[in-house]
Amino acid sequence: MSENTSLYNTYMRIPIRFERGEGVWLIAEDGSRYLDFAAGIAVNSLGHSHPHLVGALKEQADKLWHLSNIYEMPGQSRLADRLTEATFADKAFFTNSGAEALECAIKTARRYHYVNGRPERFGIITMEGAFHGRTLATIAAGGQAKYLEGFGPKAPGFYQVPFSDLNAFKEAITEETAAILVEPLQGEGGIRELSNQWLRDLRALCNENGILLILDEVQCGVGRTGRLFAHEWAGITPDIMAVAKGIGGGFPFGVCLATDEAASGMTAGTHGTTYGGNPLAMAVGNAVLDVVLEDDFLQHVRDVSNVFSQGLAAIADRYPDVVDEIRGTGLMLGVKCKCPNSALLVAMRGQNLLGVPAGDNVIRLLPPLTTTMEEAREGLERLEAAAAAVSGASA
Ligand SMILES: *Cc1c(COP(=O)(O)O)cnc(C)c1O
Repeated sequence: MSENTSLYNTYMRIPIRFERGEGVWLIAEDGSRYLDFAAGIAVNSLGHSHPHLVGALKEQADKLWHLSNIYEMPGQSRLADRLTEATFADKAFFTNSGAEALECAIKTARRYHYVNGRPERFGIITMEGAFHGRTLATIAAGGQAKYLEGFGPKAPGFYQVPFSDLNAFKEAITEETAAILVEPLQGEGGIRELSNQWLRDLRALCNENGILLILDEVQCGVGRTGRLFAHEWAGITPDIMAVAKGIGGGFPFGVCLATDEAASGMTAGTHGTTYGGNPLAMAVGNAVLDVVLEDDFLQHVRDVSNVFSQGLAAIADRYPDVVDEIRGTGLMLGVKCKCPNSALLVAMRGQNLLGVPAGDNVIRLLPPLTTTMEEAREGLERLEAAAAAVSGASA
């Protein structure tokens, strides 16, 4: 591992220095080329240096970088209009990150009950294995001991129940519950899916109890699963949704989307942000949407996903000592390993192929949504070679 002595030691960094990116490829200082199926952890949704995004950023950079939310910002209103038109939502609040989008979602849910005369309703029920960010509230929401340890008392009002256990949710609901918060498809937790029926049952449970459903689509949203948002597969809608990562294509921003009713407590002065929704972010966000909302774009994601599914299933068949199971939807895929996931990741880097580790001994494959069939096949060949190397080594 490289020595970054003046940086916090919070990351064990891989000692590769990338200099530039072209589509699905990353090019290191020494000229070596890597197939990037990490995509900045599902952030570079349109690959690296996409010409439409680069153009939008440069054009805006010449005009205006930052204002303040005390002024009207046409680019922000336009992106909010487009996002609300394309989704269940009526309202949008722009943030700088996923965690902040979740913070806004949590505050929105609590305020909703507060202005409806139920201030005692502030509890948020979440699911084990969840990841909602690294702020003090979102580590409490995620509930994972490894992220909470040593940071003082866990923020109150967050309760975890076992993964995919609807009865546990039922039992956890009290007169003080404000909302249920889940990722429709867990990312960090190991590409763990909830079935469409399960999500419909969860929606019904929220309705029966007058509590809000918050979805965290920070990782699985914006086309990643082959629909604009993952919950569309289940035919449900949330009351509030947090989005980030892919929405900026690499420019850091997020958004909290909500229905008019759910957002009814978020009146003037209740929430704010200095940078959120600034002109640079909005120029890039509008450019990302231009591409993602094109006819056939999501169909392309689903078609490339089929190539991956077939190829991954074949690799799983051929290397049962390396691959336990293939998971995921669209281009949010997981390889659950029999060997330590770190061993396969190292072997993948040996083939100049990048993936991302996740919980449950999984490797995430999160290729740019613009990945071509040919690039998918190239990646599968490299993954197969990596699996062969690990299989040989452990035989
Ligand atoms: C990455 C992620 C977050 C946190 O986003 P940041 O931009 O790192 O704050 C929250 N929820 C999910 C599902 C994520 O994948």
